[in-house]
Amino acid sequence: MELKNYIGGVWRHSAATEFATVSDPATGEVLAKTPLSPPSEVDMAATIAAEAFVDWRRTPPVKRIQPLFKLKALMEDHFDGMAEMIVLENGKTIGEARGEIRRAIENVEVACGIPLMMQGAVSEDIARGIDEFMIRQPVGVVAIVAPFNFPGMIPFWFLPYAVATGNTVIMKPSERTPLTMQMGIELMEAAGFPRGVVNMVHGGAETVNAILDHPTIKAVSFVGSTAVAKHIYARAAANGKRVQAQGGAKNPLLIMPDADVEMTTKIVTDSVFGNSGQRCLAASNIILVGAAKEIFTPLLQKTAVSRVLGHGLDDGVEMGPVISGQSKERISGLIEMGVREGAELLVDGRSFTPPSALKEGHFLAPTILDNVAIDGELSRTEIFGPVMSLMHAADLDEAIAWINSGQYGNMASLFTTSGGVARRFRYEAQAGNIGINIGVAAPMAFFPFSGWKDSFFGTLHAQSGHGVEFYTQTKIVVERWLKEWSRQF
Ligand code: NAD
Repeated sequence: MELKNYIGGVWRHSAATEFATVSDPATGEVLAKTPLSPPSEVDMAATIAAEAFVDWRRTPPVKRIQPLFKLKALMEDHFDGMAEMIVLENGKTIGEARGEIRRAIENVEVACGIPLMMQGAVSEDIARGIDEFMIRQPVGVVAIVAPFNFPGMIPFWFLPYAVATGNTVIMKPSERTPLTMQMGIELMEAAGFPRGVVNMVHGGAETVNAILDHPTIKAVSFVGSTAVAKHIYARAAANGKRVQAQGGAKNPLLIMPDADVEMTTKIVTDSVFGNSGQRCLAASNIILVGAAKEIFTPLLQKTAVSRVLGHGLDDGVEMGPVISGQSKERISGLIEMGVREGAELLVDGRSFTPPSALKEGHFLAPTILDNVAIDGELSRTEIFGPVMSLMHAADLDEAIAWINSGQYGNMASLFTTSGGVARRFRYEAQAGNIGINIGVAAPMAFFPFSGWKDSFFGTLHAQSGHGVEFYTQTKIVVERWLKEWSRQF
């Protein structure tokens, strides 16, 4: 099946000559072909979205959110179908996919509060007879560029806020996992957004670069790897656009000797191996402080090897494949690099053999490397796969200093039963999302997704009030109305 673009309320065949293949990572079955749309199709979408903006921005916010209420109901109706589509194109388990769609819906719900969220401010009498207002107005045509790993949730970190604040949108899903958003856009069409308000152009790097260079597109929201995030940030900014660009991660998770043993073991393993490690909030470096080493190492090992792998739609499966053969090879190479750097392979997931029905799948079982060199390359490289690196620190000072020396700042988590240790960690750790006895500190829709350092380029993050600020520009009005002018009536 060759996917179509959705421009101006019409599903259109792309003139692309190159395609990306979408396949089920668990079976290798080809599901669709994604057109790598040429710049002319971005231009068509931008032109039509700009025309639609004229009326959409004049539509009162209370009216603009009505299709969002319908969208919420439609997403609930199609909840299972969307979750199954995520499993098929991404490989994660059905439970993980359901969690993803729930998060997407929560963002639609929060954006329904736009009439209140985009209110301005008024100061009466800044001088005698003079009032000053701050009004929020939409920026115009905005674009969203998404990664492969949360095909149903990440577009919704942005889309509901962008349209509710009065902008028109061009969506560019990952060319590797575009099918969930194909459904998402069909639901938006059914929800009754006017033609041209929401558009989707499939593609890869050339399509994205056409977005970054297009003069009509005023803002770009991006989520993906750090190398691409830097490119997006620089090129879009050089063209005068607003940009929010979320990048990669290498999340540290600290375990203190006083941590709750059972809960910590379960949550830490889930954080590292959930979504097969393909989560920007997956824990990667597990830093065991002092005596935590003896307590937790054997337990983490035992829990990791018990994880059930298979097709994400099958009952009892706890972990699916990684996204592609290329990704599996890259992760295997990183495991090898860790061993070369002196780490000990406690659990080797590379030897996993799937059942014959899944022999074409890209499976890698949980892997644990112990004594990963703190100054080595592996400890600094995003793996984006089911690999746990165990590292050891003498005390909290050493652990926090090491965390803060890292390049990324997406998330840092701590496991302890001590309030004092927790407060110090929350205060000092240089990451934008902090977990205290939490393995995946994913902000709810009503908080901003606050990556720091090389995990984020920009100032306003995804979701909630940050989304509203990003998609609106403030206008200040200063008015003078003298009392004597009202006397004539
Ligand atoms: P990616 O950077 O390869 O691709 C992301 C998007 O950018 C895709 O839509 C792709 O078509 C486009 N793209 C790729 N190369 C490009 C180029 N050279 N020029 C212009 N556009 C280009 O990322 P991915 O592999 O799809 O996703 C995984 C990455 O995303 C990981 O690094 C992960 O940490 C990160 N991620 C971050 C967050 C976060 O919130 N910070 C969330 C999810 C994923």
